[in-house]
Amino acid sequence: MVGAMEAAALTPTQARVLSDLMGNGVARPSFEADLALRLRAYLEERLAPVAALLEERQLVVHKSALARVHTCEGHHVAEAEAGFSWSAAAAVGVVAHKAIELSVSLAPADGLAGLVDLAIERMAADVDRGPGAWLAAASELDRAEVRGGAIDRALKFEDEFPPIKRAWRPRLESTLLTSLCADRIVVRGKVDLALGQAHGTTAGVLIVDFKTGKPRRDHTDDLRFYALLETLRAGVPPFRVASWYLDSGQCHQEDVDEELLQAAARRMVDGAHKLYELEVARRPPILSAGPVCHYCSARHACPAAAKCSP
Ligand code: SF4
Repeated sequence: MVGAMEAAALTPTQARVLSDLMGNGVARPSFEADLALRLRAYLEERLAPVAALLEERQLVVHKSALARVHTCEGHHVAEAEAGFSWSAAAAVGVVAHKAIELSVSLAPADGLAGLVDLAIERMAADVDRGPGAWLAAASELDRAEVRGGAIDRALKFEDEFPPIKRAWRPRLESTLLTSLCADRIVVRGKVDLALGQAHGTTAGVLIVDFKTGKPRRDHTDDLRFYALLETLRAGVPPFRVASWYLDSGQCHQEDVDEELLQAAARRMVDGAHKLYELEVARRPPILSAGPVCHYCSARHACPAAAKCSP
């Protein structure tokens, strides 16, 4: 909770986070105790045919892959073949989140800029995880780009959110993982920020995904995916999930109910089937041209990309 004096010092946007997003003082919903078990049973049953075909292989389902196969299967195949590699743009978010995490415990004289430097130093020292190896080998220019982008992101967060308290149990860059069908299928995601805790069967967690740029339909799907994974992990759903747009200080949020979780489970099952067909059975991908063509790795060679507007 935030005291009256602290509340008076908040900007209107910060106050909006407390009242509208965190829902201070508003009763949280309760859920049936067997909800997570029922969702898991549904997933296991619908994925059993895929698991049987996998034999000794393992299918990994994650947020980006799901978003891609539901947007354009060709896009997924192209990005999977191109592979992921760290870059300054990719490192900005994780460095900013690390700095925000450090701000809960540390308050250096140079504020979040100092914590961004500390975050880069700590991450570069851990070459086996995340962008560590890339940061350790990055040029001065790349590091400066990461630093600038992360400071921008962290300062916007500081402007728009009330100071994060330890009592809110903040989890940043928090991994959510579930194993299905005797570990043949692994589903994982990483939430930018989770606050709060469930009590009994009463929800208490808020999940926030930070975004730059404009809202997109698949941001909502990402949130529902996180809600499903958090429910399977904790046994109780988050009470709310939200995309927070740092460039505009705007928010899209959804209160979690069983219907939302069932929709997320159906989308996950459908996506896992597609991932199996594309990655293991090597079915040719269906091409669905759209706005994603503009940044797809296949855009120069794809016959469908010509349909995209310039
Ligand atoms: S260029 Fe467009 S249509 Fe072609 S694979 Fe990529 S996203 Fe799909």
